Amino acid sequence: MSINRRFTVVVAVALALSAAPTAMAFAQGGGSGEGRIRIEYVPPKNPEHQALYERLQARHVLENVQTIFSPLRFPVDMKVLTVGCDGESNALYERFQREDKKPTVTICYEYLHEILQAMPKTTTPAGVSPMDAVVGQFMFAVAHEMGHGSFDMFDVPIFGREEDAADGFATFVLLQFRNDEALRLVAGAAYGYHEFIKDYKQKPNVTWPLAAFSSDHGLPEQRFANLICLAYGYDAQLFADVVDKEYLPASRAKRCRYEYLILRDAMRNLIRPHVDMEAARKVFNMQWLAARTPVGN
Ligand SMILES: [Zn+2]
Repeated sequence: MSINRRFTVVVAVALALSAAPTAMAFAQGGGSGEGRIRIEYVPPKNPEHQALYERLQARHVLENVQTIFSPLRFPVDMKVLTVGCDGESNALYERFQREDKKPTVTICYEYLHEILQAMPKTTTPAGVSPMDAVVGQFMFAVAHEMGHGSFDMFDVPIFGREEDAADGFATFVLLQFRNDEALRLVAGAAYGYHEFIKDYKQKPNVTWPLAAFSSDHGLPEQRFANLICLAYGYDAQLFADVVDKEYLPASRAKRCRYEYLILRDAMRNLIRPHVDMEAARKVFNMQWLAARTPVGN
């Protein structure tokens, strides 16, 4: 199968976030606050993104994003766009409160193209299927930007780096899905860091330029460790592999329950008052991911 052919087939299955009919039924109209999540697939300028653009729509990817985040009661409309970004692979949030812009989450076709190209060809030794790698990374990126949006729209005070807080928000969101799906989504999101941690046993030392430490984002190895630490802190049995397979050293693992509880308290105190909890329960009780094909039979 040629790369193009494989790409096309995989896009068809991978960007599914399989829209169960029940999922779409109750989601019309968005959240119960004043604001709504408005979605738009902006036609791409780069013809290479045309197939992706069409398949995202055919798979109702943004409609699913709209449903999943509709319990957030934003004070004004929040736009979520897929758009061409002139070659830049990115996802970003445009501020409302402090910069007086229309609150907008932008997901670049370039970024979607990149995660599709980097996905594993088969299920990895860590158990991440190609579909889970794509959907997990996509959901983590969208939830991270929704984190920025929530901090902004709900005027949430933040100690420390906002980028770390947005990663915490995103991880917490992924962990709210049913356990089987939370596991797959977190594992899929963690796959986004595979280039940085794939040789973690053979090559335990890495080198970064000094400037990398001054970034407002954590280094990818740190973001990976933070993600799996929070997941382990949420449920040490469900995520036992992260310690058993030595992705996370025991010295950090013993702090993860505490770190998760700090995050949970922040979400309860600062975000939950803005969430339609009944709608959220419906969202998280649904089946979102297509059933996995059993391996080897
Ligand atoms: Zn960010």
